[in-house]
Amino acid sequence: AKELGRNRSWMYQPELSRNMHSRMSLEKDLRDALVQNDFRLVYQPQFRQNESNPLRVETLLRWPHPLRGLISPHEFIPLAETSGLIMELGLWVLRSACEQFLAWRDQGLTLEKIAVNVSAIQINGSFAESVAKILDDLNFNPQWLELEVTESLMMSGITEVTQQIHLLRNMGVEFSIDDFGTGYSSLSKIKSMPVSVLKIDQSFVRDISDESSDYEIARAIIMMAKSLGLSVVAEGVENQIQEDTLHRLGCDWLQGYFYGNPLSGEEFLTKYNTNQ
Ligand code: C2E
Ligand code: CA
Ligand code: CA
Ligand code: CA
Repeated sequence: AKELGRNRSWMYQPELSRNMHSRMSLEKDLRDALVQNDFRLVYQPQFRQNESNPLRVETLLRWPHPLRGLISPHEFIPLAETSGLIMELGLWVLRSACEQFLAWRDQGLTLEKIAVNVSAIQINGSFAESVAKILDDLNFNPQWLELEVTESLMMSGITEVTQQIHLLRNMGVEFSIDDFGTGYSSLSKIKSMPVSVLKIDQSFVRDISDESSDYEIARAIIMMAKSLGLSVVAEGVENQIQEDTLHRLGCDWLQGYFYGNPLSGEEFLTKYNTNQ
């Protein structure tokens, strides 16, 4: 383990990455990675209560950096956003995820939907058109696609954003609000939002045991969602206690390490294809 640790610190080149190997150079690496097709996608299953086969899946982006190893999306997505690269990267993610979904279908793995994360700044005046083009190119049924956006974007009230979302909704693409509960949504506003799924943020799932304040928040979100006819996904489910609690609260969908880690497309197929 020591050996590995030493290797790893050499691999990460901490002094390099913190000083000389600056933000600029990481941005250049991002650009190169796009051109060289270095990005990878992994897929995490979502299960309906008491079902053993996943019906939905969330797409998550991975960047295996040649020198620094795997870099967290928490680190490189913000950089992709500020540099504008997120536009191209985001469309690559979307196209690749849709292609994977179709490949799975060909191989006998049929899912209800595939979810893809979308950054706020991706939603400009031509977003709907770009998405439509990909779906059209691939002959992809828009109803198989769900786009995860953050609460703050959904609630921003920016006309352009609302317009783009409505355009896609009218085509059949679904929207979910990611990390729900961490923003400042007013309940009355949610009713008028073109979303069909709320994803309870994992910070509320972590300490969800009875009588915690997180329990009360999760309960309130689930009750509200139900009364508005929305589905609820709990993310970050890691143990039996959390599952039991969420079941009792009537949460529709569960996602987390307790059920499955994010897997490559091939691994996902091997693990979940029951028709083989
Ligand atoms: P997110 O959308 O909230 O994704 C959930 C994160 O929780 C993922 O981290 C996932 O691997 C992790 N996770 C899954 N199950 C568990 C669990 O049981 N416990 C815990 N503690 N964590 C769990 P990941 O893959 O590192 O992604 C981090 C964030 O990066 C995502 O958060 C999302 O905001 C962003 N991201 C990832 N892929 C994309 C992408 O393609 N486009 C954009 N715009 N953002 C992305
Ligand atoms: Ca997400
Ligand atoms: Ca989330
Ligand atoms: Ca998150």
